[in-house]
Amino acid sequence: MAKQTRYIFVVGGVLSGLGKGIAVSSIGLLLKSRGYRVAAMKIDPYINVDAGTMNPTEHGEVFVTADGLETDQDIGNYERFLDTELTRHDYMTTGQVYLSVIERERALGYNGKCVEVVPHVPEEVIHRITTAARVNRSDIHIVEIGGTVGEYQNMLFLEAARMMHLRMPGRVQFVLLSYLPIPGQLGEMKTKPTQYAVRTLNAAGIQPDFILGRGAVPLDAPRKEKLSINCNMRPEDIISAPDVKNIYHIPLNFEKERLAEKILTKFKMPARRRDLQQWKTFVRHSMSTAEPLRVGIVGKYFASGTFTLSDSYLSVIEAVKHAAWSLRRPVEITWLNAEQYETNIASLKELRAFHALIIPGGFGSRGVEGKIAVIQYARQQAIPILGLCYGMQLMAVEFARHVLKWRDANTTEVDVATKHPVIDLLPEQERLMKEHHLGGSMRLGAYPCRLTSTTKTAAMYDRRQVIERHRHRYEFQNRYRQDFERAGMVIAGVEPKRQLVEILELPSHPWFVGTQFHPEFLSHPLQPHPLFVGLLRAGIQRKKTK
Ligand code: GLN
Repeated sequence: MAKQTRYIFVVGGVLSGLGKGIAVSSIGLLLKSRGYRVAAMKIDPYINVDAGTMNPTEHGEVFVTADGLETDQDIGNYERFLDTELTRHDYMTTGQVYLSVIERERALGYNGKCVEVVPHVPEEVIHRITTAARVNRSDIHIVEIGGTVGEYQNMLFLEAARMMHLRMPGRVQFVLLSYLPIPGQLGEMKTKPTQYAVRTLNAAGIQPDFILGRGAVPLDAPRKEKLSINCNMRPEDIISAPDVKNIYHIPLNFEKERLAEKILTKFKMPARRRDLQQWKTFVRHSMSTAEPLRVGIVGKYFASGTFTLSDSYLSVIEAVKHAAWSLRRPVEITWLNAEQYETNIASLKELRAFHALIIPGGFGSRGVEGKIAVIQYARQQAIPILGLCYGMQLMAVEFARHVLKWRDANTTEVDVATKHPVIDLLPEQERLMKEHHLGGSMRLGAYPCRLTSTTKTAAMYDRRQVIERHRHRYEFQNRYRQDFERAGMVIAGVEPKRQLVEILELPSHPWFVGTQFHPEFLSHPLQPHPLFVGLLRAGIQRKKTK
């Protein structure tokens, strides 16, 4: 008999950016802690077929699944909280849905029927959701619908959810994450915007089972009462979701409100005993009051008007936190704008104040010379540094320029005419670029990497081979390998089939490691990534010896 999977749709009201992804992740964690098989998926209302073509300053980090789909950063949150691996089935955009419907129509897949937005588009959405649940073998499958209720963009997804609720009695629930403002001049928490969000949802044929009330402070009894009466819900189904010190507290707050138990009761599933011990320990470590580790991240995807966004580097930030907390130290992250080191060389000196530096991934030539200046300084001043993807490629460029003395060395991403293209396009990428076949066409997803024993990298992994995730078009050029090795650079990891260089390491330095892959995608709260731990350990050592 087919599994009677239960579905929870999580939708947003009033504002975006309230942390729907974290709410989904937290609910998932709580249900999983009670012994259920849980997976989560995200629906993004963009026409973009995947997140790979969106600028990170607009849409945040592009996450990559093991099977190579470029997705929204929330897939990373789900993987981190659920300590699991998701696949391309767990992310859907409007673009993907329409593409499938149109391709099927072109293949006469609708047997001569008129193909219409309703029902064919919601049917395709339902097909994708139930397929994802089947692939994950979910007891409970959580679906996040991006955007806020009332937007045109997500209406067809709400329609699909409504249809599923109708077809699967007792097996579909709705959670509305909404916002309760406290206007300064009133000093009182207001429920009206959330009431309107519920009415909008009602107009789509959907009645929420739970409201998660986001606000600066917890919802008090009068607020819960008001929402209960006006939204036609029991007061115990209105859950407080106040601001927290860090996102990892949220599952514990929901647990205090007995959210998982209430969901399971409505599904008529046994509540089972929960096991949150490891999570609680992790959260306790996150509150350490020891001296913070200072980590500088040198990037460029920060600016949004007058605001600074760190979303572009979300997985990197979380990976740093997981590693620091596993060492029982808090962490203070500073955003360093790469371009400032191009015009203001003297400011490089400030880098000495950091325990460790990170050069994250990136594209194009803006900020590259600044990053190279930082790498050179860190190499010469023995500051622990980790280069991720573009960061590793620029470590190779820096080494070629200043150690091998090839002054014009570069990546062809920046200078196609260089005589020393130490980083150049992967062979298969040349054709793709020429044909302007640019969406979803990088080297993406998980590949094995064989480690060189005796390196710091291998010691930290404590393995001979690892699997890591990639997202790039350019690659270290093997014809320069011997020159690099003779000058003291160690190739610490290689992809076994094609001999692609995946890790560079300088053994004479306390921690100078660059990876062609993105280790940050695999760091989980309870499993910090060894290379981030290695970086920070070296940072702690450095401060001790100084
Ligand atoms: N721009 C580089 C490449 O395409 C690095 C990509 C990245 O940092 N993710 O290879």
